[in-house]
Amino acid sequence: MLIDYHAHVNFNAYKDDADEVIKRALESGVFMVLVGSQIDTSRRAVEMAAKYEKGVWASVGLHPIHLEQMEVDEEESHFATRAEVFDTAAYRELAQHEKVVAIGECGLDYYHTPSPQSSPSGRGQGEGGWRQKQHTTLRKHLDLADELDLPLILHCRGSAKDPEDAYRDMLAILREYVEAGKIVRHGSIHCFVSTLPIAREFVDLGFHVGFTGVITFPKAEKYAEVIRGIPLERILVETDCPYLTPVPYRGKRNEPLFVRYVAEKVAEIKKLDKHAVENQLFANTMKVFNKIPAPYYSRS
Ligand SMILES: [Zn+2]
Repeated sequence: MLIDYHAHVNFNAYKDDADEVIKRALESGVFMVLVGSQIDTSRRAVEMAAKYEKGVWASVGLHPIHLEQMEVDEEESHFATRAEVFDTAAYRELAQHEKVVAIGECGLDYYHTPSPQSSPSGRGQGEGGWRQKQHTTLRKHLDLADELDLPLILHCRGSAKDPEDAYRDMLAILREYVEAGKIVRHGSIHCFVSTLPIAREFVDLGFHVGFTGVITFPKAEKYAEVIRGIPLERILVETDCPYLTPVPYRGKRNEPLFVRYVAEKVAEIKKLDKHAVENQLFANTMKVFNKIPAPYYSRS
């Protein structure tokens, strides 16, 4: 049994078959958290989770790429974002739904930058202004998570020039909150693609580190080093579907069921029994997203 804690079955990629995709996962013992990336997909995540008696939960937040209008290429799919301002009251209302177990995805993304043509509001603000806007919005998410006592699902991607820059800035902001006794539920840094020293800083602050199908790709040895270097108790697995489909389904649309291949890869890297690793990963996810109902803890 596993929980894909970062799935986007609430996205348009599943507009024709979302229920079938969800049922397929549930019937195979894969639960999921549907993650919103702006107000519409956050609302849809809550509505979809509410339809299922068990096994489906939601997270609500505003992804940094939706702070400006821009064209985004996310492997095999191309889409345009709309500028949205984080409305704490609107997200607070959604987050109070009983099926909402986390705030996010939110965070910092220095990889994508708004072009002056596609982003009227970004015109003239420069790279510094764009990053500042992301920091302010991340802080609003942290404040809401602290207020509602919910864990976070964090997104972080560095610039092409310096892939660690966004991670360093995020760690500085998180440290400030943690040291002030805030965001005590911590949460997860999702789709981790940085170095072992950076991963250790998240772990030391109390966060779990999430891995996607990226760890199954060829040339993923640097992530194996990260996985070997942090305790299994602090690892989570996820799909980030419809993106990042793991081997052996590369090229196909991803879905929660495929989180199995990510868990298998973790077991292979850690040189541990597959079933023992699955059980531990399930327990880790339950611990982080502790609003997921208690009966699931008692599974033997
Ligand atoms: Zn995502």
